[in-house]
Amino acid sequence: SLTLGIVGLPNVGKSTLFNALTRNDAVAANYPFATIEPNVGVVPLPDPRLDTLAEMFSSAKTLPATVSFVDIAGIVQGASEGQGLGNKFLANIREADAICQVIRVFDDPDVVHVDGRVDPSSDIETINTELILADLQTLEKALPRLEKEARTHKDKRPMLDAAKAANGVLESGKTLFSAYGHDPDPLLRELNLLTTKPFLYVFNADEGVLADEDKQQKLRDLVAPGDAVFLDAKVESELIELDEESARELLESVGQPEPGLNALARAGFHTLGLQTYLTAGPKEARAWTIRTGWTAPQAAGVIHTDFERGFIKAEIVSYGDLVAAGSMADAKSAGKVRMEGKDYVMHDGDVVEFRFNV
Ligand code: GDP
Repeated sequence: SLTLGIVGLPNVGKSTLFNALTRNDAVAANYPFATIEPNVGVVPLPDPRLDTLAEMFSSAKTLPATVSFVDIAGIVQGASEGQGLGNKFLANIREADAICQVIRVFDDPDVVHVDGRVDPSSDIETINTELILADLQTLEKALPRLEKEARTHKDKRPMLDAAKAANGVLESGKTLFSAYGHDPDPLLRELNLLTTKPFLYVFNADEGVLADEDKQQKLRDLVAPGDAVFLDAKVESELIELDEESARELLESVGQPEPGLNALARAGFHTLGLQTYLTAGPKEARAWTIRTGWTAPQAAGVIHTDFERGFIKAEIVSYGDLVAAGSMADAKSAGKVRMEGKDYVMHDGDVVEFRFNV
């Protein structure tokens, strides 16, 4: 499954946040077969639609989609100069599908900041610089080969041009994600560059920032096109220890409508380019994870590979239409349930039943 790699300078609250991500008992209880590794934190994607479906279909339980975060160990500064832990840091980032940088915006005289002051844009710069330098090194090695290939094979020319354009962006000190956003040139994919990966920013904030929309907007602007999430890692690590009632009280006391991990899960899902479709029956109401743009047979393959191979058609109703109709039978008689074939591109919130041959 796709993962976001958590990075950040020392003392910004990575371990505190990661602790909250890994001590998620709800996930452990619902996904007994998931191999949960010590450096992976799995968070459920909150989805109130599942509760509505569970009621409508008398489902025994709900199973939300999940998002996985990997704790990326190793040093940051000087990583691109590449020794030991620095190399490991870059290698781990290369394996992740997106980068999640934790940034300190909380003030605490007892917690030392590595650079002596709380400065989000400088923290972002520090990480970006290492990743940009690593990408420039990758291109420095690749460009001579691409030049040579383009001389003998005309069809390799676009690849060379894409690499040169990327090199220009990096030399100007920008990440490829900040230049190209969520849809980088597909030609760049085979170069496996680090900064084409989408970035998500977690601002580890105290109440002052969590209650201040203007401050948050300034930070959002700073990281666009990356998503921004604002949470208090310390509060998150406390919430995870509490029963539902006490957790609600703690959230209320800090003026938050929901745990920050909920927002983090949604933003992580978006950053990875994922969406869900829904199934419901007496056993469970469940959200299934697919990539944006996937077709019905691809979506069926997430449930079982046989479903993709033997795909005949999909019976689909949008969640909104289903709820408006009140039941599957009423949605059918209202003509809201469609039969879709193998070219159908899935929409988020499609409620689906697949027909297939085995
Ligand atoms: P890491 O080095 O990035 O993994 O940072 P840690 O999670 O170990 O946190 C460093 C220190 O900052 C610890 O003493 C934490 O208790 C403290 N800390 C983490 N998050 C917060 C926060 O949101 N507010 C405050 N005041 N302290 C925090």
